[in-house]
Amino acid sequence: MNAVPEFPGAPVNGLSVDVEDWFQVGAFEDVIARETWDRLESRVEANCERVLALFGAAGVEATFFTLGWIAERHPRVIRAIAAQGHEIASHGWDHRRVFTLGPERFAADLQRTRAVLEDLTGQAVTGYRAPSFSIDARTPWAHRVLAEHGYRYSSSIAPLAHDHYGWREAPRFAFRPLTGAPLVELPVTTAEVAGRRFAAGGGGFFRVLPYALSRWAIRRVNRHDGRAAVFYFHPWEIDPAQPRVAGAPLRSRLRHYTGLAGMEAKLARLLGAFRWGRMDAVALREAALVA
Ligand SMILES: [Zn+2]
Repeated sequence: MNAVPEFPGAPVNGLSVDVEDWFQVGAFEDVIARETWDRLESRVEANCERVLALFGAAGVEATFFTLGWIAERHPRVIRAIAAQGHEIASHGWDHRRVFTLGPERFAADLQRTRAVLEDLTGQAVTGYRAPSFSIDARTPWAHRVLAEHGYRYSSSIAPLAHDHYGWREAPRFAFRPLTGAPLVELPVTTAEVAGRRFAAGGGGFFRVLPYALSRWAIRRVNRHDGRAAVFYFHPWEIDPAQPRVAGAPLRSRLRHYTGLAGMEAKLARLLGAFRWGRMDAVALREAALVA
């Protein structure tokens, strides 16, 4: 946990990295087939090393939601992440959205991923993030499957309307999705202005829009709501030299490639401005608030 530069007594916010390569993002799914992934230039290891250096300089610990597909091919960097005190959690095997799987395939995906991650680090995997925040109204079984597999928390819901994801009726802050199970859901942070919700927990919002907007939103969540923010980004977001994907929709390309060059400095600023910690620690605190 880092210093408290902004104001004392602020909650520790959840800092998370979704560990996937530049060719695995949901927006490119229709133009880059999974069968071709092994032939593409992998940049995830080098980018994770840079993320580790950034976190080390800021003195923060975080959670890395990792694809099983990545862990199997890049064991060294996953071990390095865990060895530096960060949490390794699950992002599923190969980025298939939960609502495309159904309960049985979802369970199999969880088990396969967890086996690889736990084998690498020797530490229990207790957290899960659905690819593209794909737990929503179409997956009423998903939290039950997670609880049955011993997960303590999930951070898999974007409680807003977005063109690629979102479940706008979901609560903005931590809640227990099941009665009689300790599982806590930690939705990605949103800002609410005049009854409208905006994504404010990272992703394109943080990278593309001015830093001051994210800072305002996280301060408001900490001070006005008294809650922890949940923030995420991807290793490819600090990599301006990544290959460009032709054939993807213009809107997806604009969102993916804008702001890459300034991202690392922007992140360093954010890390210094708030308190940050691992998602498992944030889940414990938030669980006590919603008991
Ligand atoms: Zn992802």
